[in-house]
Amino acid sequence: MVETESIETCGFGVPPLIIAGPCSAESEEQLITVARALRESGRVHLFRSGVWKPRSRPGTFAGEGLKALEWLRVVKAETGLPVAVEVASPAHVEASLNSGIDVLWLGTRTVSNPFSVDEIASALRGTDIPVMIKNPLAPDVELWMGAIERIHASGIKKIAAVLRGFTPYGTSRYRNIPKWEIAIELRRRMPLLPVICDPSHMSGKAELVPDAAQKALDMNMKGLMIEVHSDPAKALSDREQQLTPDDFSKMLDNLVFRSESCDDEGFLSQLEDLRSQIDSIDYQIIDLIAQRMKISNLMGEYKCKNSVTVFQLDRWIEILRTRADYGESLGLERNFIESLLQYLHDESIKCQREVMKKLCDDTNSF
Ligand code: PEP
Ligand code: MN
Repeated sequence: MVETESIETCGFGVPPLIIAGPCSAESEEQLITVARALRESGRVHLFRSGVWKPRSRPGTFAGEGLKALEWLRVVKAETGLPVAVEVASPAHVEASLNSGIDVLWLGTRTVSNPFSVDEIASALRGTDIPVMIKNPLAPDVELWMGAIERIHASGIKKIAAVLRGFTPYGTSRYRNIPKWEIAIELRRRMPLLPVICDPSHMSGKAELVPDAAQKALDMNMKGLMIEVHSDPAKALSDREQQLTPDDFSKMLDNLVFRSESCDDEGFLSQLEDLRSQIDSIDYQIIDLIAQRMKISNLMGEYKCKNSVTVFQLDRWIEILRTRADYGESLGLERNFIESLLQYLHDESIKCQREVMKKLCDDTNSF
């Protein structure tokens, strides 16, 4: 079991942790302008900025490296904000530690490569700097956990995971598909690990960031990492997704921060009541599915005896249409009902085929 520290003791601040700053450090002036504005907002725990940029294509802005680490030193001294950078190699780790960087993060491309993560983990040995670990490019919870375990095994206990979404195939509304279920699974497997969200890389568009951030808070994520640039239109990387400091403050004003639980007696008993209704309905649904499956088995036998195929297209089309119509009349989404039926139908076909196979085997054995 990976025993990470809670977010409160990670030196990250009191949750929800708010991390903000530009995608890339472009100049000392740009960093100071953004950092001052964020400092004034009074709501930022940690200033982020990439100094080595892992770009998908060569020939694009790759970051200012060591020079930018010096600018971050100035930012820290001027604003008092702790600073975080992305590291992708042992040399990055060493330079960041030497420059007094407070928090490191592993980017999504690096997390996708266990060799790189191992090398970074070795470079971290003997330090206790907090490390944030973004999700890998593919929705592979094992790969994400593997990176966390590798860093943890090097002695780092202050770890947070960052959900930034997964590469889509083709076009999608969000630049990266959120797949909240992967973060939920990570939290189920590593209950002590704080998981935060990066709505900027997830959505890829400034106008979608507030909605993604609210969704992250509603999913009980322990913090937000938001890209903020003084002049997003001129940014050297991730131009479309960065917020101005003003828009960032407006977004924070409008976000609803709800608590995970509430001690109010009335609320708790009402919640208990609603939960027991859900429990009861879930068991009824499972009972009905079991009954449906028994009938499927009988149909398998019947079809087998009459040499009829398991699958009949007309019947399936009729099931889909009638159930989706009915669901819609009750206010349910057609897509949702169709996906649900697809699951049931797949299972039903599987059962019928097993019944047929068994009957055939029995017949052949005489
Ligand atoms: C970044 O944070 O600027 C970045 C490159 O993020 P990711 O690794 O999520 O693409
Ligand atoms: Mn970026």
